[in-house]
Amino acid sequence: MKGVIVEQPGGPEQLHVTELIAPESEQGDLLIKVHNAAVNRTDIMTREGKSGYAKSPVIGIEVAGTVVDANGSGTFSAGDRVMGLVNGGGYAEYAIMPAERAMRIPENLSFAEAAAIPEVFLTAYQTLYWLGKLQKQETVLIHAGASGVGTAAIQMAKQLSDAKVIVTAGSERKLNFCQELGADVLINYKEQSFDEEVLKATDDRGVDLILDFIGADYWDKNLASITQGGRWVLIGVLGGGEVSDVNLMAIMAKYIQLTGTLLTPRSDAYKADLSNEFAGVVLPHMNDGTIRPIIDSVYPLEQVTEAHQHMEDNQNIGKILLDTDA
Ligand code: NAP
Repeated sequence: MKGVIVEQPGGPEQLHVTELIAPESEQGDLLIKVHNAAVNRTDIMTREGKSGYAKSPVIGIEVAGTVVDANGSGTFSAGDRVMGLVNGGGYAEYAIMPAERAMRIPENLSFAEAAAIPEVFLTAYQTLYWLGKLQKQETVLIHAGASGVGTAAIQMAKQLSDAKVIVTAGSERKLNFCQELGADVLINYKEQSFDEEVLKATDDRGVDLILDFIGADYWDKNLASITQGGRWVLIGVLGGGEVSDVNLMAIMAKYIQLTGTLLTPRSDAYKADLSNEFAGVVLPHMNDGTIRPIIDSVYPLEQVTEAHQHMEDNQNIGKILLDTDA
């Protein structure tokens, strides 16, 4: 089969499509003919040799495809359309997925649309609800609003919680898209001071929850933007991972709950529980179209280098996909 490996830790040019032996599945696993895989920031870290938890020489952590061998799984059979997280090996024609976390693709969605769902929607769901405890009609600040995770989070916060959604993004094009998805307050962080805008939009109260992909660069402004007793979930460090001059008293004085998470290194059981709850709560909204996967672009597997470069250039709105059949 064709699959993508990393020649040497480094830039996108280190990605190579090569001939590999297809993986063999075991009891409890589904062998899947992959139609689409999706690109994630964690794949970039793996490519750079920085993630520390890659489990396969083939990179990629999510796919959508057709079950070839269900290994006696009581739930799935050969021919079923499934999507979900894999433990590496996603950028390939065949991949292995633990059956307990596989999700059936809603009938109205294509394989490409399905591949745009697992990582960013599960991350956003976990962050908003399991960790962030978002309640109905609360106010949430979603940074990188047009990112894969951001576009998923905006839709769920609006549709599931009727939340007031404040987003930041770096261009009018991205902010307009966030507005189409339901965002209420749009802040261009390159032209405006987002904490001032957040306080204006909340009558100086601040937000109940922050989804923070940025980290160090936004530390002080996030502190200023959160309300007393607010929850702040750290899920990315696009703006750096080391904060200097941290005043812990500021966290204490506002009774802030600061939580961090990474989905990829979580256990199989955690991913199964998250996937199953998400499938029950959110996939019905994808059936009726009130929540939708957002596709930025689709690249043939051979153009995986261009796909990674596109993400690193911060050009995408929603997901960048790979097509293994093209
Ligand atoms: P994405 O689609 O690639 O979008 C990321 C966007 O963030 C960029 O397009 C850019 O948009 C903005 N950005 C980049 N650098 C920035 C900076 N220094 N300051 C402000 N904005 C910046 O990303 P994604 O796949 O949705 O992932 C979003 C974040 O979530 C990443 O940090 C990723 O690592 C993280 N993540 C975490 C988990 C987890 O389990 N913790 C899981 C999945 C993803 P603008 O044009 O608006 O600047």
